[in-house]
Amino acid sequence: MFLVRAVYTSTAIPNLGLSAVESILEKARGKNLENNVTGMLLFSGDYFLQYIEGGRNQVNETLVRILRDDRHSKPVIIDYSEIEHRSFQDWSMSFVPQSSLTKDLLLKYASEPLFQPYKMPKSSVLELISALGERLKLG
Ligand code: FAD
Repeated sequence: MFLVRAVYTSTAIPNLGLSAVESILEKARGKNLENNVTGMLLFSGDYFLQYIEGGRNQVNETLVRILRDDRHSKPVIIDYSEIEHRSFQDWSMSFVPQSSLTKDLLLKYASEPLFQPYKMPKSSVLELISALGERLKLG
C-alpha cells in the first residue's frame, strides 16, 4: 500500500492542559506503532496542528478516530496527499510544544508573531512542519 500524509488543524477544548495532551500522546503513540503510522503533533495551547503519514488505510482510520475525538473541535483538513517517502519515520508521534513556536519562526510565516493555523496557506503550513521536523532531527 502506498504512503499518504494528512495534515489538519483543530481547536483544543478550553483549558486542555499538558497532562491531557500527554495522555493523548501516550495513546496515539501506542496505536501508531501498531499501525506503522508516524508524524508530528503540535499543541499551541489553543490549537493542534498534526501531520500523520503512513499507509492510506491506516492514515484514514487514524484520522477518522482523531476527528471524532471530543478533546478538540473545528477540525480543518489542510492537506491530504500521496507521498514518496516518510518525513517523520523515527517518530510514532513526535510532540512539538508551544515553546518551539519561537518569534522568529512565527514571523517567517505570518505578519505577526502569532500562531493562527486556520489563517495560514497550505504551503506555509507544510514549510512550518518541515522546519519543525528539521529542528526535531537536530534534537
Ligand atoms: P477509545 O480510547 O476507546 O476512546 C473512544 C473515544 O473517547 C475517543 O474517540 C475520544 O473521543 C474519547 N476519549 C478517549 N479518551 C478520552 C479522554 N481521556 N478524555 C476525553 N475523551 C476521551 N490516536 C491515534 O491513534 N493516533 C494519533 O496520532 C492520534 N492523535 C491525536 C491527536 C489529537 C489532537 C487528539 C485529540 C487525539 C489523538 N488521538 C490519536 C487519539 C484518538 O482520538 C483516539 O482517542 C485513539 O486513537 C483511541 O481510539 P479508540 O477508538 O481506541 O478510542
